[in-house]
Amino acid sequence: MTVAPRRLESYVCGSWTPGTGEGQLLLDAATGDPVARIDSSGIDFAAVLEHGRRVAGPRLRAMSFHDRAGMLKALGLALMERKEEFYAESLHTGATRPDGWIDIEGGIGTMLTFASKGRRELPNTRVLTDGAVEGLSKDGSFVAQHILSPLQGVAVHINAFNFPIWGMLEKIAPTLLAGMPCVVKPASQTAYLTELCVRRIIETGLLPEGALQLISGSVGDLLDHVTGQDAVTFTGSASTGRRLKAHPAVIANSVRFTMEADSLNASILGPDAGPGTPEFDLFVKEVTREMTAKAGQKCTAIRRVIAPRAHVQALVEALGERLGKTALGLPGDAATRMGALASLEQRAEVRARIRDLQADAEIVAGSPDEVRVSSGDAERGAFLNPVLMYCDRPFAATAVHEVEAFGPVSTVMPYDTPEEAVELSRMGKGSLVTSVFTDDPAVAEEIVLGAAPFHGRVLIGNRASAKTSTGHGSPLAPLVHGGPGRAGGGEEMGGIRGVKHYMQRTAVQGCPRLLSAVTGRWIEGAAAQHDVHPFRKSLAELRIGDQLVTASRTVTLEDVEHFAHFTGDTFYAHMDAAAAKANPFFEDRVAHGYLIASFAAGLFVEPSPGPVLANYGVDNLRFLTPVYFGDTLQVRLTCKEINPRANAEHGEVRWDCQVTNQDGAVVAQYDVLTMVAKHWPPEAVA
Ligand code: NAP
Repeated sequence: MTVAPRRLESYVCGSWTPGTGEGQLLLDAATGDPVARIDSSGIDFAAVLEHGRRVAGPRLRAMSFHDRAGMLKALGLALMERKEEFYAESLHTGATRPDGWIDIEGGIGTMLTFASKGRRELPNTRVLTDGAVEGLSKDGSFVAQHILSPLQGVAVHINAFNFPIWGMLEKIAPTLLAGMPCVVKPASQTAYLTELCVRRIIETGLLPEGALQLISGSVGDLLDHVTGQDAVTFTGSASTGRRLKAHPAVIANSVRFTMEADSLNASILGPDAGPGTPEFDLFVKEVTREMTAKAGQKCTAIRRVIAPRAHVQALVEALGERLGKTALGLPGDAATRMGALASLEQRAEVRARIRDLQADAEIVAGSPDEVRVSSGDAERGAFLNPVLMYCDRPFAATAVHEVEAFGPVSTVMPYDTPEEAVELSRMGKGSLVTSVFTDDPAVAEEIVLGAAPFHGRVLIGNRASAKTSTGHGSPLAPLVHGGPGRAGGGEEMGGIRGVKHYMQRTAVQGCPRLLSAVTGRWIEGAAAQHDVHPFRKSLAELRIGDQLVTASRTVTLEDVEHFAHFTGDTFYAHMDAAAAKANPFFEDRVAHGYLIASFAAGLFVEPSPGPVLANYGVDNLRFLTPVYFGDTLQVRLTCKEINPRANAEHGEVRWDCQVTNQDGAVVAQYDVLTMVAKHWPPEAVA
């Protein structure tokens, strides 16, 4: 009995919508059996954008960063529970279980990392401040603060076929955290897996309606309707990317366009890393892994293997031997080490690109035409054994630096000096990642600094990180993913940096009181209230601008001597008048900075048990004026920022702490960071 292939649907304007046409038939990469049909005809794409803007945008923007982070966490955990269903579907793409892990658990892990970063690194507000307050007037009555607020349109994410889940989740996580709705358009070839994942996301009911829409099939005239408040990200081939970037509506409306395109990533074997060294073995392992993981269909895979001429022969032999042992077969078969390419068309494409590369390079291991499989049908499945090539004169070559064979294909090329290795890595004209395997600090410095301007990420591999390194090819949520030039010039992820791509930076100018009202942060010069000691107030009572001005305390010679001997800090500037006077900054012996901070705490704390639960650090501590014996200190402590935690009975409070001397000069300035109970006494909760 033959089962009719599943008809993929789009999730748009609040419902699952089939296309009205016949659509394209999608085949299993490894067996050639029909998997699904895809079609998006009949969809009103202008309405899709409008639905996101009108229905989801306001609801997402009404949530705080912590609310959205909590939503992402719940979503990530819910998806993790359903991962086996994704693994099963992923087999159709030709991906083995380890390949699927990168896509599925890598994608969900990326979402969870954004959830955690949002909670830890962003305030529990709806607007972000960016940088310090800039003084614009002598008397402080006119200042400026940069703020970031979410764009009010929709982010359209157009993705490549190779990571149907990771490609979606790594983009929607920062977008949703920023407070912007998304429309995802996966590449048709593997869209069945993305569609399944979106079905499970929508079923959780965790996202506000319209926060995530899916287009299964072509995006039709969608790009005609983008505005300056929308954003478009593209991952795929450089040729499609360039076409979309030049779309008239994208140009006319200055639409933010992030492009991640093909990349001729390199990996360099250091001159010190000859055969017999741990780095040589690591390099061989890494190149093999990068060529065979996901059958080489990774945007970060090593395409160019740059090695010292003296070690090239040994390297080619070692790689050839290892690659020859790679069992190629059905992705669900336990013996399989490498699965299939995404489609027979993709295999034909890779073979054609190998022919292009042969203009500069010869095949030294593997064959593009004779396929050897340990399971499956070599012709019905898109199987291709790894192909290693060698280019003897890489400076005279062009194809090896330009042609991306998006499969298990790499080219070895020799260098004579480290400068040449750097130059070869740069001949990719901008790549996502390069790596260097060396144990020599001078080599690491020269190659990393030489290659960095041409790359979004550089990995150094050596014996010290052999067991812990995440490897050349893994983009990580906290790190920037993207590259200049040929790689598209875009940047994704990078932790909170990636969130800011979906926000507008605005310089806001005005008086401190009104700026403070806008940002929800106390600013020097804004209003302050004085009633009970602010440490007696729980979060239920505490307000921005609650301020304490303390009693004063005079610093004596005895204090400094006592502190010095008690702590062991007998630095000469505190102990020796002649030496202190010879110092360009001091007129005499000075008090320790840490003594000032300690005295300040002694002046501002309220000692009895209360809502302030702990001091967890200080930020931006600066000692600005020397404190001499006989100087008198006073502290002004002001509640600057309040961040209640969504899932705890306390929150973080940031206090502006200013220590002045008897002349009113600021001797120390910093932020004190505390945890404060939401209610006090705790039984007051009820
Ligand atoms: P592609 O053919 O350029 O397609 C990429 C995406 O663009 C697909 O979703 C495709 O949809 C869509 N698309 C094509 N024409 C379009 C149009 N006129 N309007 C709107 N969307 C359009 O690339 P691919 O073959 O899927 O992906 C392989 C390439 O992606 C490789 O070169 C690889 O290096 C690159 N890649 C880069 C990264 C990175 O992060 N830098 C990551 C992964 C892959 P359809 O499938 O429906 O045509």
